[in-house]
Amino acid sequence: MQHFPIFLALSGRDVVLSGGGAAALAKLRLLMKTEARLSVFAPAPAPEIVDWAAEGRLTLHRRPLAPGDVTGAALVYAADEDAETDAGTAALARDAGALVNIVDNLADSAFITPAIVDRDPVCVAIGTEGAAPVLARAIKADLEARLPATLGLLARLGKAFRHMAEALPMGRPRRDFWADYYFRAGPRALERGGEEKVNAALQTLLEKHQNATPIKGHVAFVGAGPGDPELLTLKARKALDTADVVIPDRLVSPEILELARREAVLIDAGKQGFGPAMAQEEINRLIVQHAAAGAQVVRLKGGDPTIFARLDEETAALDGAGLSWHVIPGITAASAAAAGLGRSLTRRGRNSALRLITGHDMKGFADHDWAALARPGAVTAIYMGKSAARFLQGRLLMHGACRATPVTVVENASRPDQRGLSTTLGRLPQDLADTPVPGPALIFLGIAPRHAQPMISATEQELA
Ligand code: SAH
Repeated sequence: MQHFPIFLALSGRDVVLSGGGAAALAKLRLLMKTEARLSVFAPAPAPEIVDWAAEGRLTLHRRPLAPGDVTGAALVYAADEDAETDAGTAALARDAGALVNIVDNLADSAFITPAIVDRDPVCVAIGTEGAAPVLARAIKADLEARLPATLGLLARLGKAFRHMAEALPMGRPRRDFWADYYFRAGPRALERGGEEKVNAALQTLLEKHQNATPIKGHVAFVGAGPGDPELLTLKARKALDTADVVIPDRLVSPEILELARREAVLIDAGKQGFGPAMAQEEINRLIVQHAAAGAQVVRLKGGDPTIFARLDEETAALDGAGLSWHVIPGITAASAAAAGLGRSLTRRGRNSALRLITGHDMKGFADHDWAALARPGAVTAIYMGKSAARFLQGRLLMHGACRATPVTVVENASRPDQRGLSTTLGRLPQDLADTPVPGPALIFLGIAPRHAQPMISATEQELA
């Protein structure tokens, strides 16, 4: 981030603009929304500027900017649309220690003016650091359509009521009150009868929330999917939007954690340095502790929470403590990996069953019905299989599997760095040793990629 977005206090401060043409008009229209003292320097100002000066909205000087004019200014705009004049304005501003913006000259500007969506006091600023003005305009148009024009009024009335709402306990009760106001009671009251009705609604709503029974803690076990944030379900998004506490496992991608409520407490269970058994007990304890304290907890699990995610141990702990919970499914790694390969996991005449197995269990390498897995045409999705590859190979060959059985490894399924690597059962351990696969990887036994490629060089193997 080369530019840091801030909101500058301009009330009563001086803002100076040099220029009188189209660029000046565009900037002045924005600046006049503020409470700054505006001075415009323009030997030949556009008629609009003359009118605004007559209305007292700015002070107009019909001459070029001169040294001394920018003293004490908070911001200076060089908007003459002439490189030489603008450079002169910028030099004066810099000498006076003021921040300067040269219209359409990002490189020499000390700040940029973002595209804004104005619902005063709510204001959304959009910046692309000059990379994509088209994108900024599209985002602005989208937000303009999405944010009701009445939002500003609701926010102003809500702001005036803030001290009254302090009667509610901090945290969840207060948040619920405001959510109820902004998304339900407020807009409804405004529709029915304007400001007066909104003020009455605020009072009624406060009483309702003061008399409400305290909310009980609850745990949502949420599937975070394989990594791509767009593969989250709408329910998962909603749960993340309203969570008080989020406890992700180590597979959850940072992009997905970004989507959690800003105020939510994030407890990174995946990064704690305990042994596996200890970590699970500690996680159970944390989940119970936060839910018992009244929090809405999201236990976020990579993929689907019901697949190799120790869900039952955590739900048992909650049952033991008499706490409520529910499960929101997610897209499991096998589905995402198959989608990445463009291959079906079941096929008429090949396999009517699909096994999801783990390479590891609590005791080490996991035992399975090897004879069934070794049968020709069988398809198996192996989770946590990388370090068990040699063991898996040994057992399968011992039970009659063919060395040429296709094996496909999909690393980082659904993520930008997704890779598909193709090998056979006979070569699997050696190929895995030769080609490092550092990310989470799913091993498909019995499936070849559509365009089978040997597992040689990682870069050559990248999937589109
Ligand atoms: N609950 C998860 C699985 C947890 S077990 C799910 O439903 O997907 C962890 C294993 O899942 C990893 O060792 C790896 O084999 C697999 N895995 C998880 N995310 C993956 C991804 N994005 N790409 C490939 N494999 C992944």
